[in-house]
Amino acid sequence: MIEIKNLTKVYRTPTQEVLALDDVSLSINKGEIFGIIGLSGAGKSTLIRCINMLEKPTSGSILVGGQNITSLSKHELRFARQKIGMIFQHFNLLSSRTVFDNVLFPLEIARKPSQEARKKVESLLELVGLADKAKVFPDQLSGGQKQRVGIARALANDPQILLSDEATSALDPQTTRSILKLLKDINRQLDITILLITHDMNVIKQVCDRVAVIDNSRIVEVGDVLTMFSNPGTSTSRSFISAVMKNELPEDLANFQTDLDHQHSCVVRVSFIGPSAGEPIISSMLRKFDITSNILFGNIDRVKDTPFGNLILELIGDAAILAQAMDYLRSKGLEIEVLKND
Ligand code: ADP
Repeated sequence: MIEIKNLTKVYRTPTQEVLALDDVSLSINKGEIFGIIGLSGAGKSTLIRCINMLEKPTSGSILVGGQNITSLSKHELRFARQKIGMIFQHFNLLSSRTVFDNVLFPLEIARKPSQEARKKVESLLELVGLADKAKVFPDQLSGGQKQRVGIARALANDPQILLSDEATSALDPQTTRSILKLLKDINRQLDITILLITHDMNVIKQVCDRVAVIDNSRIVEVGDVLTMFSNPGTSTSRSFISAVMKNELPEDLANFQTDLDHQHSCVVRVSFIGPSAGEPIISSMLRKFDITSNILFGNIDRVKDTPFGNLILELIGDAAILAQAMDYLRSKGLEIEVLKND
C-alpha cells in the first residue's frame, strides 16, 4: 500500500544541513496498522510529512497504491492527498466552525454536492460517537471529543490511508485507550491502512500489527509487534519496551542467590505469547526434570489483543539437566533469555 524506497531528507538552513531521514526504506501493507516509534528528533514527523507531501524528499521515492507521489504535478497531488487522511496531536480544528462544519470542510474543498456531503458528515459523526455534538463548537469539547472530530474530518473523503501524527500524545491514558479503540474499529470496519507515529510504546502495544523503530534518522528495526516485544533486536527497542512492560528484574532481586549446596543456578527470563500463556508449561517442566525453581518476578500483559507474559525464574539443579529443561521450554515455543548463570 505504501512503499518507501531509499528516502532521504536533508533540511538546509543558512547555517547548517540537517540529515532528518537517512536512506529509509519501508513497506506498509494494505489494511494493517503500522507504527513508527522513535525519540524526539529521530525523524518521525519528517517521514509522515513526506508521505503526505507536506515536505519534499531530497531523494528516494514513495509509492502509495502503486503511484509515485514524489513525481506528481500540483493538480495530481490535490487528488492524491484526498486519499490520505491525517490526524494531529493538537487536533487542528477550526474554532469558528461547529463540529458539523469542521467535518464538512474537506468535502467543501473537494466540491462534493451539498446533500451528499451533509449525509456523509452525519454518518461520520455517528461512526465516531458524536452525533449529538454536531452543533457544538470545538472549545466546548473535551480533548478526546476533539480528536474524534479530527478523525471524522480525516475520513470525509474516504481515504485509503489514515496518517496519525502523535494523535494521542495530548490525551490522558483512559482517553488514549478509547481513541485507539476507535482507530482499531475504523481499521476493521473500513479496511483502511493506518500509519501512526509515536514516541509511546503503549500506543504500539495497544493497536499496531507491525512496527518500525527509527533512531537518528534511520530505521533500525522493523517487525511484527509481538515478535519485537518477545525478542527486541536493538537496544533502542529494548528501552522502549522496558518503559511499558515491567519485565526488568527488580534491583533487590538482581543479586538473589539461593544456597546452592553444590548445585548449579541460573536466572532466566521466560516470555510467552498467545495460547501458550494459558498452558501450564512451567509446572510440566518441573515435573519432567529433576530441578527446582524460584519465581522471582512475573507479569502478564496484552500486546494488541494477545496475552503476553514474562516470568523471571531461578532454576537450580545439575547443569546438564538445567540445559535440557531450558531446551524443553524452547521446544514449547517460549522465548528464553539467560540473565545469570553461576
Ligand atoms: P521527530 O518527529 O522524531 O521528533 P523530526 O522529523 O521533527 O523528528 O526532526 C528530525 C530532525 O530534523 C531534527 O534534528 C530536527 O531538528 C530537524 N528538523 C525538522 N524540521 C526541520 C526544519 N524545518 N528545518 C531544519 N531542521 C528540521
